[in-house]
Amino acid sequence: MVVVGAGPAGASAARSAAENGARTLLLERAELPRYKTCGGGLIGPSLGALPDDLALKVRADITSISSTHAGQRFRSRSHSEPVLKLVYRDEFDAALVDTARARGVVVRERTLVREVEQDADEVVLQTGDGPVRARVVVGADGSASRLAAHVGVECDQVDLGLEVELDVAGREEDWAGRVHLDWGPLPGSYGWVFPKGDALTVGVISAKGDGAATRAYLDDLVRWLDLADLPVLRSSGHLTRCRTESSPLARGRVLVAGDAAGLLEPWTREGISFALRSGVLAGRFAASAAVGSGPVERHTAEYAREVDRDLGAEMRAGRVLLRAFEKRPGVVHGLLSRTRPGWRAFVDITSGRSTLARKLRHRAVRLAVRAISR
Ligand SMILES: Cc1cc2nc3c(=O)[nH]c(=O)nc-3n(C[C@H](O)[C@H](O)[C@H](O)COP(=O)(O)OP(=O)(O)OC[C@H]3O[C@@H](n4cnc5c(N)ncnc54)[C@H](O)[C@@H]3O)c2cc1C
Repeated sequence: MVVVGAGPAGASAARSAAENGARTLLLERAELPRYKTCGGGLIGPSLGALPDDLALKVRADITSISSTHAGQRFRSRSHSEPVLKLVYRDEFDAALVDTARARGVVVRERTLVREVEQDADEVVLQTGDGPVRARVVVGADGSASRLAAHVGVECDQVDLGLEVELDVAGREEDWAGRVHLDWGPLPGSYGWVFPKGDALTVGVISAKGDGAATRAYLDDLVRWLDLADLPVLRSSGHLTRCRTESSPLARGRVLVAGDAAGLLEPWTREGISFALRSGVLAGRFAASAAVGSGPVERHTAEYAREVDRDLGAEMRAGRVLLRAFEKRPGVVHGLLSRTRPGWRAFVDITSGRSTLARKLRHRAVRLAVRAISR
């Protein structure tokens, strides 16, 4: 079988397919390691979905979160254990691909998949190096996925993330162990500063449609935090997309995972844990479709059920919280930074001890969210 895209979803899918007995080829358009616009923030569920033999290079262990609302009302809270780990995505993704290679996956870099066709027996991928044939394919080619277009993935939330990497040499100590979050001035927007030792990743995310306002928010955030004098090492942007509830996760012999499937938490736009977890599932069910018995649709339907059970529930909860956050970002800022239950909920979720969906099952939380959303 073939996996397209060597991000967290594709590397996980390829590894899991090989572990489940499928001869697996991983196609990636870039040369690895490759840059990816991303904060590189790993929460508990991401760490829990990593293989034991991963050479994980952590750039920062975060025990302290400072926050503001549109640059105002600065607060800071700390925890005894790390609530987040930060990585550089080029290093992280390349290490994940190495774990797939270690299970026998063949990796072909600099191979762009241009087109996909399938019939009852096989899938044919047209690449720059000629056609590649497979019994089953996992599309993990990110948020501008060609495989998703083939499958017919539908998204109802598209956001624009903008980031700059700033050279913080000489001022590293100001940011040691601390992440900053700004609950933003645009509806549903927020910003972050993720320190990686010698550099800071400063970013914002907001609904797609007003790129100039998103850009202005990033510039403001850099100014508010007194970072405007730091040299810019890199500046980039990327879209994120969240699937509709009924969007397909497969068509015939092609499954989609990660950003390609629109799997991402709608409020925080956290996507690495969704990519890792859906990738592992896609690899497992694609392998059973490729080497097992019974019609392919039986395996892909099971994949869709498994994804919906956990990740679907998380996305539904994220949507509810996004609506509340869009209405009253200042209240959300106060709850998370000033109240003990709010901070505890934040730590529980980022550490993986609880989930947004489980928190929302508590009556008191539901009532509070409903009141904020009015
Ligand atoms: C600004 C920003 C900040 C973010 N910060 C965080 C964060 O801190 N924590 C978090 O959890 N999530 C974050 N996310 C979300 C996270 O980056 C994504 O959800 C995650 O990268 C999804 O992984 P993936 O493997 O599905 O896709 P990707 O990581 O995008 O990987 C897709 C791969 O497919 C390859 N590819 C694409 N097209 C083709 C093709 N046609 N043929 C061959 N190969 C192809 C690409 O080169 C790429 O390597 C952020 C997103 C943005 C935009």
